[in-house]
Amino acid sequence: FADIAMYLAKESGRSNYKFFANDSLHDSQPLLLESELCSAIANGEIQVYFQPKMASSGDQVYGVEALCRWVHPTHGIIPPGQFIPLAEKNGDIIALDKKMIELVFAEMNKEAFRDLHVAVNISTQQFYNNRFLSFIRKQMELYPEVDVTKLEIEITEETAIQDVEGAAHTIMELKKLGIRIALDDFGKGFNSLNYLKQLPVDTLKIDRAFIANLPEDFQDQAIVSSIVTLAKKLQLSIVAEGVESQEQLTWVQNLECDYAQGYMFSKPLQVSEFLTYLNTFNAIHKEKATLI
Ligand code: C2E
Ligand code: MG
Ligand code: MG
Ligand code: MG
Repeated sequence: FADIAMYLAKESGRSNYKFFANDSLHDSQPLLLESELCSAIANGEIQVYFQPKMASSGDQVYGVEALCRWVHPTHGIIPPGQFIPLAEKNGDIIALDKKMIELVFAEMNKEAFRDLHVAVNISTQQFYNNRFLSFIRKQMELYPEVDVTKLEIEITEETAIQDVEGAAHTIMELKKLGIRIALDDFGKGFNSLNYLKQLPVDTLKIDRAFIANLPEDFQDQAIVSSIVTLAKKLQLSIVAEGVESQEQLTWVQNLECDYAQGYMFSKPLQVSEFLTYLNTFNAIHKEKATLI
């Protein structure tokens, strides 16, 4: 992966990694951002970034998680942590999530991404919105070529437990369409075990807080291995989030976790950068395979 990271750094001249520095935000700026967000969504300033999701064996890019970025004309790239809370407060999150779904369908419709599994995050407000399912159906009509069995919708356990019955209903409807559902940040709320039986989800994504201190932390070891055991018994796919080191990867590999996502493989990338990553990864991997 170091090879690929170096290649990408050279290709992009690092210019794409100008993350929005926290300290450059003045106290008064969240207000400004809030009033700008609505028009930013309409003006195409919200972009989709892709973070690779790997088979935990590390030898295959299984898919991506779509993550939003606000490419602001003066502030640069603003990460979701700085505007999603605002959007949730003022209701712009509905438009934001719709925008992301539209962008994701448009990307999945591209020839280069036809085989790719794509996960997209959905907020509580959007998930329980009574127009959500019809919006998804409309995208499916607009993009009949997109294979929605490769689409996964991520909701947090916090979202799922707001109204477990309602959530179970929406999940069933999405599954009828062929779409998969993941429970994101699993374990963070310590609530989910009670509800897992009632929620027909396909995937658990272990919150990165439990991965961060592996392999040293014995408590996290116990928690992660229990979650994986549970998920396997329930026949759920399992993703380890926030894998940053080889030691952590080895640990989740030994548990036979299905997929791993994290900075060890790649940060979220612009779609064009991701395509380079994918092609480079596949070329390097093919080379290795022919050497064996
Ligand atoms: P999430 O869905 O749990 O996404 C994973 C977050 O962890 C991403 O942050 C990703 O960049 C970060 N991450 C991935 N690997 C590593 C790692 O190895 N180490 C560390 N330290 N971090 C890692 P990001 O992109 O800033 O997104 C933050 C959160 O914002 C997401 O958490 C998700 O809850 C929300 N979000 C992002 N995009 C959207 C969206 O389009 N719609 C909605 N509703 N929420 C979104
Ligand atoms: Mg997520
Ligand atoms: Mg997560
Ligand atoms: Mg998270």
